[in-house]
Amino acid sequence: MIKTKLALAAVMAALAFAPASAATQKKSGKTSKTSKKSTVKHTAAKAAPAAVLAERWQDRQFDLLSNQFLNAQWRIDSESAIYAGKYDTAATLFIPDQAGIASELAFIDEWLDRFGKVNAKQLAAKQRTDLQLLQNKLEGDRWRLTTLREYEWNPASYNVAGPLDLILNTEYAARPQRLRTLLKRITSIPAYYAAARANIVNPTREHTRLAIKQAPGVKAVLVEANKTAQTSILNAAEKQQFALRVDAALAAVDNYVAYLTEREKLMTTNGRRSFRLGKELYEKKFAYDIQSGSTAEQTYQKALAAREELLANMDRLSDELWDKYLPGVARPADRYAKIGMMIDKLSERHVGRENFVAEIRRQIPELQAWVIQHDLLTLDPAKQLEVRATPAYQAGVAGASIDAPGPYRPQDRTYYNVTPLDGATPEAAESSLREYNHWILQILNIHEAIPGHYAQLIYANKSPSIVKSIFGNGAMVEGWAVYGERMMLESGYGDNAPEMWLMYSKWNLRSVTNTILDYSVHVLGMTEDQAIDLLTRQAFQTRSEATEKWHRVQVSSVQLTSYFSGYSEIMALREERKQALGSNFNLKQFHEQFLSYGSAPVRVIRELMINK
Ligand code: ZN
Ligand code: ZN
Repeated sequence: MIKTKLALAAVMAALAFAPASAATQKKSGKTSKTSKKSTVKHTAAKAAPAAVLAERWQDRQFDLLSNQFLNAQWRIDSESAIYAGKYDTAATLFIPDQAGIASELAFIDEWLDRFGKVNAKQLAAKQRTDLQLLQNKLEGDRWRLTTLREYEWNPASYNVAGPLDLILNTEYAARPQRLRTLLKRITSIPAYYAAARANIVNPTREHTRLAIKQAPGVKAVLVEANKTAQTSILNAAEKQQFALRVDAALAAVDNYVAYLTEREKLMTTNGRRSFRLGKELYEKKFAYDIQSGSTAEQTYQKALAAREELLANMDRLSDELWDKYLPGVARPADRYAKIGMMIDKLSERHVGRENFVAEIRRQIPELQAWVIQHDLLTLDPAKQLEVRATPAYQAGVAGASIDAPGPYRPQDRTYYNVTPLDGATPEAAESSLREYNHWILQILNIHEAIPGHYAQLIYANKSPSIVKSIFGNGAMVEGWAVYGERMMLESGYGDNAPEMWLMYSKWNLRSVTNTILDYSVHVLGMTEDQAIDLLTRQAFQTRSEATEKWHRVQVSSVQLTSYFSGYSEIMALREERKQALGSNFNLKQFHEQFLSYGSAPVRVIRELMINK
């Protein structure tokens, strides 16, 4: 299938497939449905048994249909199957040629038709929302293939590395069997890149450069696979075949890079496609990907207001801290300059570059203890999170991310990928360390691990809906992590210190600015200079952070809005529940109920919470 997630956002690649399984599904049927709900059903059964039985029959029929859909989906799309933890079809690499694209479209239409015949009104909330997510996914896929047509302009959407790495390093079967699967899969790599070349019509310069930059990582995975094969128990003939096919695959990657390098040289400023989506494509993509209650434009307006509120607060906190950190230093009248000076001063406090990964590793159990002691969320102490260096083929997009196993492989390990500073120049390392200073590093860990992404994934794992686990909503996932930062500080984490609140505000301003930046760049034509000014002077980011963000906003779109979009909707929902429940409102209950539905869009969770 045409996939862009590897190229666009490693974070999303990992998070789009929250772990859950048919087995967990059974277990957690109990967990998320309270006794209240079964009482309601019981009463209803007395009143109208026939209707209820019919309704349950419809729900069961729908569950069968969505399972049938998933199995069909895995058959035609081994890549997303592998990400979901299904390896039955892993030996086959999908070739994205015209016939392949036509078969995808036929598949989408067939299933839109079948789901279109389901009477949503007869379904229970769980099935109804599953249906909504599936239809949204299929309609989004159809739109991506027919209207967005990224496969014609994004050369980085062709990348074979992720699934190869998973087959090689996931112990779903004995190693020789996995190597034989790889042996078959890599046979088609030359055909895959030939199809890619044939598809590319009007590549953007930015996506072309990204594809070239990621190629060494792709080759590294192939070389590692061959090394593993040569030292395995495969027979001599298989080993020889392996070496030959890896050579052919490496040559195909090289040819692809040579082709792209040539294309890039021929690009003219006026003749080439812009990386900017434009308003029409942007609003549509926002609707499919974010599934917010608001439009992209409304979300952008909300972000502008949130930005103003944060800046006013940061101005006040800087005044409060001034004499403690900058006694005798003249206080600038310009608030950006004043806040910037204070943040600069505080940023001096950071770990040494050699301790960066170790410090992250040290903080995780502390955060877990805080969440448990302060009654914010129930956490399973048995689940372990391993902090590791980001694999090379995922490099180039995100600095830190949670990499979780697919829904069919809940027993696999979840990794906290951190890009180490080993390769950085002293200046670049210092810049990153100041950005991830004493306070921000804690907030990063809250966001990525506990109670952010990692904790949310564990809850999603218990969700009774495998559909929601697989086609999870990115804005809910990112929104939860951003909400978690604020909620931790509200609980007193960081001692309510003005330093912590100032740094938190700077960090939160980053999410808000992500939304403003993404919309401004893709819809309003913001230039690189304006973007760098917005990020550095007006959002107090370091030059390296800002440059990285500018790179990311050129090769991705809409995803950067998910943080603020989800966060603002969760904050609004919490306020709504507080108003509705009054003294019966309980924060831990709110969190656990919110997370119990799996990674559904916040507006869908809201409906489920309110109608419970
Ligand atoms: Zn320093
Ligand atoms: Zn995140």
